[in-house]
Amino acid sequence: MTPDTLFQNLTQRNDDIRAATKIVCTIGPASEDRIVELIDAGLSVARINFSHGDEADHRRRVELVRAAAAERRTPVGILADLQGPKLRLGRLEDGPRELEANEDVTLTEGESAASGVIPLNIPGFLAAIQPGHRILLCDAAVELVVQSVGSSTVTARVRRGGAISDRKGVHLPDSSLVFEFPTAQDREHIQLARELGIDMLGLSFVSRKDEIERVRDAAPGILMVAKIERLAALRNLKTILEATDGVMVARGDLGVEINLEQLPLVQKSIIQEALKAGKFTITATEMLESMIEHSRPTRAEVTDVANAVLDGTDAVMLSAETAVGRYPVEAVQAMSRIARAVETSLRYRELPRVSFRENEPTFSNATALAAAQAAEALDIQKIVCFTETGNSVRLLSRYRAEAEIIALTPNARTLNGMTILSHVRPMLCARGTSLDDMLHSAQALLLERGVVLPGEEVIFVAGVPPGVSRSTNVMKLHRIGEVTRLH
Ligand code: PGA
Ligand code: MN
Repeated sequence: MTPDTLFQNLTQRNDDIRAATKIVCTIGPASEDRIVELIDAGLSVARINFSHGDEADHRRRVELVRAAAAERRTPVGILADLQGPKLRLGRLEDGPRELEANEDVTLTEGESAASGVIPLNIPGFLAAIQPGHRILLCDAAVELVVQSVGSSTVTARVRRGGAISDRKGVHLPDSSLVFEFPTAQDREHIQLARELGIDMLGLSFVSRKDEIERVRDAAPGILMVAKIERLAALRNLKTILEATDGVMVARGDLGVEINLEQLPLVQKSIIQEALKAGKFTITATEMLESMIEHSRPTRAEVTDVANAVLDGTDAVMLSAETAVGRYPVEAVQAMSRIARAVETSLRYRELPRVSFRENEPTFSNATALAAAQAAEALDIQKIVCFTETGNSVRLLSRYRAEAEIIALTPNARTLNGMTILSHVRPMLCARGTSLDDMLHSAQALLLERGVVLPGEEVIFVAGVPPGVSRSTNVMKLHRIGEVTRLH
């Protein structure tokens, strides 16, 4: 970067284009009646957290998202988060209690316990815990270290003191306790998600590949998002990436299990590993936390969102900001602006590109790389990709060409699943019977929608014969308006 190009567009706003980085908004009381406004502000994926609200809330919110998407004639993906095996305190016999540093406390397994004993509602706790293990209570506000383990109780010393109360969250980062996954409640939620046609499932507190496989078996056709929020998940990241479609950098709970100061580096590593594995990423939690109460973000928050985009995340997520905050629409607008500021910068354009991902030595993957490189070489701004399953678009988006990927599919399910991918604009199209037919009708559709202009250079990526999944094998450099006949 030469000095005279370092500082550009410092006071200019480009509100007219949508960010290439996707924005996931958690829908809650503050936003369920404002989804159209959220879409206009930049929402691509609506998140429904199955841990909050009841079934009627989930059903209503899905309907509201669908109605808003239809009103704006734009695809909106729906991500539903399963609660997973969340560990909790039981009921404290004597009510809320203050633990003092260096005090020794007694714990047991179960929903309740005798006076003075702290119950952990975690089946298998006593068998899995060992001296030296940490027990973190109330989002790590309180930290205990296990001293000794008896047949029905555990003695632990308070390393960091604080208040505890009924049903607060517990983390056991050092134990190798294997939880039931999915839980019985998750299984009910999976059925609900299938019935409602949810596009993506967020798997909270997942720690192993086989857990993802079990959920996938129960939820065919739904994309899996492994939430990386346990130390065990971080340790198993490579195998988790083999099994999942995408990951969430779930900084809230992950920040409890690892030292907070490690989070920025861990975020970069997760995003990088996911890109290498060809999977998508969502960076989540506290991104614009102050906007729950204020109409403008802090400088640190702006910097955080910008850095996540520079790290290469596909999507950035809002939780309480849009679910219960006072400024849900302003929060989405702020995120869009921050993402756009980064995406239009020279620094972003000059990020190193991913090379051929050898873990997928397929025609589809090689065609995707060729298209991305041709677009860069010729400064072509649009790659038009036909896809049945979304696979070729996923492959293409991993190469992070600067071009926008117009993803054409005849399949409504595929359409919504692609809403999470950075740089991708999913559009519904008719199914073609030959390559000529597909190129011809795509050109007409894109012209009619004003997506391309006559004479504009684009790259088409397709599979021959059409309609067969995982068969992408053609790249055509094309000037809009010219004859498309290939024979
Ligand atoms: P949650 O997950 O919002 O469902 O807790 C995200 C996180 O832990 O960061
Ligand atoms: Mn979490």
